[in-house]
Amino acid sequence: MRYTTTRNTDEKKMLSSSQAILKGLGNDGGLYIPETIPSFSLTEIEALKDKNYQEKAMAIFKKFLTDFTGEELINCINGAYNLKSFSNIKVTPLHKLTDKNHVLELYHGPTCAFKDVALQILPYFLTTSAKKNCDKRTYVILVATSGDTGKAALEGFKDVPGAKVLVFYPNNGVSNVQKLQMATQEGKNVDVLAVEGNFDDTQTGVKALFSNMDLRQKLEDNNYTFSSANSINWGRLVPQIVYYFESYLSLVNEGTLKTGAPLNFSVPTGNFGNILAGYFAKEMGLPIKTLICAANSNNILDDFIKTGTYDRNRPFHRTMSPSMDILISSNLERLLYLLFDGDGNLVNTLMKNLNEKGAYTIPDRLLEKVKGSFWSDSCSEENTLLTIENTYKKYNYLIDTHTAVAQFVYKQYQKSTKDTTPCVIVSTASPYKFNSSVAKALMKNTESVDEITLLNKVSEFTGVPIPRSLDNLDKKEIRFKDIINKDKMLQGVLNFLKLQ
Ligand SMILES: *Cc1c(COP(=O)(O)O)cnc(C)c1O
Repeated sequence: MRYTTTRNTDEKKMLSSSQAILKGLGNDGGLYIPETIPSFSLTEIEALKDKNYQEKAMAIFKKFLTDFTGEELINCINGAYNLKSFSNIKVTPLHKLTDKNHVLELYHGPTCAFKDVALQILPYFLTTSAKKNCDKRTYVILVATSGDTGKAALEGFKDVPGAKVLVFYPNNGVSNVQKLQMATQEGKNVDVLAVEGNFDDTQTGVKALFSNMDLRQKLEDNNYTFSSANSINWGRLVPQIVYYFESYLSLVNEGTLKTGAPLNFSVPTGNFGNILAGYFAKEMGLPIKTLICAANSNNILDDFIKTGTYDRNRPFHRTMSPSMDILISSNLERLLYLLFDGDGNLVNTLMKNLNEKGAYTIPDRLLEKVKGSFWSDSCSEENTLLTIENTYKKYNYLIDTHTAVAQFVYKQYQKSTKDTTPCVIVSTASPYKFNSSVAKALMKNTESVDEITLLNKVSEFTGVPIPRSLDNLDKKEIRFKDIINKDKMLQGVLNFLKLQ
């Protein structure tokens, strides 16, 4: 299987999967994408029914990462998905609310958010890829994070030989727990900088660093090279396909679903990476009917799916689901490429419009295609809190703010379409990661206590244990507290690498 970029304007440059993972982003600014989507027949899907998570991962990776040997893939999988990293033996277990409403818990990894599923394995993919391509340079992973990617990348890459990680996060755009998690990160090869501004400022800053040719040259001269752990990297996307198969087959095993019967997923969406993995699963043949794109008040994707116009000329809202506070959803570009049947020129034109005018519109014919697979709506702050409270009261089950957005939008979907297909709510974070909002939804008078006391209060109130990686946050040393202006990000890189 070969990989091309979404903006393949000139001659088609094809890379192997390991090369695409190493490069992260194309020189033309496009994202790497496989030239075809491999398919699974229902018989093949059925045959995965009794396999464990690791074996399912193997079956899927084999189709996409075709230049990796079986042994290399097994090493990557076993290094990432084990009980040292994931507290649940199933890796991504399903929780039943009703026969038709399950929750897919993607937060049992070391940082308590779904990013771990991909970022625990990406360092293995990357180091294996470097070895395969006889690449001896040190990989400098630059990360722009709205909170969860940063911590998950730090955990995944800490003390990995041949890699260094520098994380930038918006100073006022992450939760207290997220800030503490990053400030106390361990490892000799890591650095963390808070940036004045919002996530889009941070992401734009990192993209500018990637395309700064002087800086790239300086790195090459010193045996360094950039790569990305953001969801623009194909190595982030492919591991996320696995849990769509895993949850579908769990429901088949449970007897809730017959193989071949349709299933919907409701996905709390920001950068469009998670839901795009669902779309790949659907295109591969997994019987997914509708992918419900759940947005918070930053409802740019919701508007796009409803109208065909993507317009970032709008106010940016800070919400209690900050991992979705995004106005430029990078991975949407991959969907556009697929909709345009691989016409990179068309994608290029839209991306130019986005850059220059902040907006683009797709033709009606393609909007109909989008609507054939996606449905969308958004959830207000008030409804996020109410959904956490109602889900707790009704099912005695605790969800975080992002999951609440997905649950609320699923209910809207049901009301609006009367579709009774079972639905899996994709749960992207532990409720303890967005503790203050969860506490606000469940209890009164929580404003004045510190974060750690609050974790304990919520745990006492609900009886749900605090995940072990969050339980000792107050006992860890604060290592990173620098706050910089967004025009100082370049200096941050130079300082980190001790280059001038
Ligand atoms: C990253 C993240 C999301 C959004 O996922 P995308 O792949 O960017 O759409 C949702 N919820 C949480 C908790 C996240 O960390």
